[in-house]
Amino acid sequence: MTDIIQLLPDHVANQIAAGEVVQRPASVVKELLENAIDADSKLIKLIVKDAGKALIQVIDDGKGMSVTDARLSFERHATSKIRSAEDLFSLNTKGFRGEALASIAAIAHVELKTKRDEDELGTQIEIEGSEVKSQEVVVTPKGTSIAVKHLFFNIPARRNFLKSNNVELRHIIDEFHRVALAHPDIAFVMFHNGSESFNLPKSNYRQRVVNIFGGKTNEKLVPVEEETEVLKISGFVGKPEFSRKTRTEQFFFVNNRFIKSAYLNHAINAAFEGLLKDGSHPSYFLNLTVDPKTIDINIHPTKTEIKFDDEHTLYAILRSSVKHSLGQFNIAPVLDFDRDRNLDTPYNFEGKRVSNPTVEVDKGFNPFREEKPSGKAGGFSTSYKKEPASQWESLYVGLESKGTKTTQEFSEIELESQPENTSLFSDNTEVESKQTTYQLLNKYIISTIKSGMLIIDQHRAHQRILYEGLLKHTTVQEAVSQQLLFPLQLQFSSSEMELLEQLKEDLELTGFVFSKFEEGSIEITGVPVNVPESEVSIILEQLISDVEQEVPDSNFSATDLLAKSLSKSLAIKSGQSLTNMEQEHLVNSLFACKDPSVSPTNRTTFITMSVDDFDKKFM
Ligand code: ADP
Ligand code: MG
Repeated sequence: MTDIIQLLPDHVANQIAAGEVVQRPASVVKELLENAIDADSKLIKLIVKDAGKALIQVIDDGKGMSVTDARLSFERHATSKIRSAEDLFSLNTKGFRGEALASIAAIAHVELKTKRDEDELGTQIEIEGSEVKSQEVVVTPKGTSIAVKHLFFNIPARRNFLKSNNVELRHIIDEFHRVALAHPDIAFVMFHNGSESFNLPKSNYRQRVVNIFGGKTNEKLVPVEEETEVLKISGFVGKPEFSRKTRTEQFFFVNNRFIKSAYLNHAINAAFEGLLKDGSHPSYFLNLTVDPKTIDINIHPTKTEIKFDDEHTLYAILRSSVKHSLGQFNIAPVLDFDRDRNLDTPYNFEGKRVSNPTVEVDKGFNPFREEKPSGKAGGFSTSYKKEPASQWESLYVGLESKGTKTTQEFSEIELESQPENTSLFSDNTEVESKQTTYQLLNKYIISTIKSGMLIIDQHRAHQRILYEGLLKHTTVQEAVSQQLLFPLQLQFSSSEMELLEQLKEDLELTGFVFSKFEEGSIEITGVPVNVPESEVSIILEQLISDVEQEVPDSNFSATDLLAKSLSKSLAIKSGQSLTNMEQEHLVNSLFACKDPSVSPTNRTTFITMSVDDFDKKFM
């Protein structure tokens, strides 16, 4: 028998790789615009015909390429932007994979014209399906022009898969907005079918936002500025009264790169809590700057998700600075001028009368008298006396009934005062008798076992429990649904609607009930048990971004993805304080799982420490 393995010819390898980089005309737009930015251009023109199906051309006035570089730029893994793996950790260019041009040239007709400032004449290259058709010397201005025609000419399946011109153009405009917003210091122009769609001169950030989204945007922008050791934030949020039914005005940029993050989006929503009309979304245009070392940049070319080392801290800083800005501009009552997390107050006391605090002296107060711990998580216990709180209480209205989400804010106060509670010399014997679990930093649950100690990550453990439960519901049992009192209306962009449509059946299996599913909006009349109504939109948002992040042809199981995404959204978070009962329930449910030791995304859920380990430490 002869050997049967062969290396794929380059043009086939390129075509396969292209499937990942180029999903639709908008992907080409993104890659070409980013290359123009990396080339230090001052003015970038985007010309599009028939939503990119006929032509996508980007003309820049950047540094251009030499004859050799022009030819090399179409080779796979050919890049001028990194030289070694270390460079990946200090990346300040958009590109670094050297894949885009090779991929685009494999599946389209490409014409490149380029000239450097120092050269007399430029270079023109024509490539069709990775094959160089011509290379000539031309007269052309400084900079680079790349025209892409007949996209997917050699992959008819892909071409047929393209959506209507409206949908494809929407995607192109989205990419254009993202790039233009991240670079207000560069001028951009866009033409579609011969008419000018956008003309954005070099400007400051506020002007750039206004130039893109229209003059009336100006009055609604509230600046957000914050600088801490780990994170710098600058940009704007929209005033709450201008919040929108769609999420088209939500932009995060991390180190000038557009990203999507349901988690950080949640931080903004939390800052707006109580200020928004139901079903509306705040606008935001926020630039976050972090040390490139603390993020994972080696992301998939089409991915907009990013991994941060310390998401929780970013969340807290982001939420509190947005809240602070809203407060400073008299949009919301705010107590946290010094931004102490412990003092964050939920904004759900509107309508309640707030009267001035009066000083009341509690004559019966005896600082040496021990108070019985209330045993209730999040309650004010210990030295803060509850009864004489008088009018101040009105500030905390809704806190108890709202339950876990807001109680976490006070948990740290409670922790600090705990030593008093469990005084070593206390003669109070009634302290919770048989406690078997303890919560550490509202993050870990500690439980004693025969051989020593068990430390459980509460968030991951709960994910595992929910995940197995969801899989069971969708595969074996009838899903249990809770009927909503009022149907919930949610708005989505056309691309989001497409995804939801694909997931609809699986969502119904988990307990979602849809009464309408049409152009841009859905109406929900039932949700799975355990899903709080207020979080439905966040959950679906997270789901959409999870699906978008999924590499298209990895063996994608909608059910599994859905279960993973829902369990991530619904699991109790780190920082949430739990009652003893809740802790015990969590521990028991975890060990009733098929695979208790890892989370659905394969991360350790618990560790054990044996008495031996302790003994060694005490030697
Ligand atoms: P990457 O951007 O990841 O390096 P690309 O395939 O997008 O890979 O581009 C390959 C190379 O071609 C770039 O590294 C750059 O040197 C050159 N190049 C591409 N577009 C331009 C442009 N508009 N101006 C100058 N050089 C460019
Ligand atoms: Mg590139």
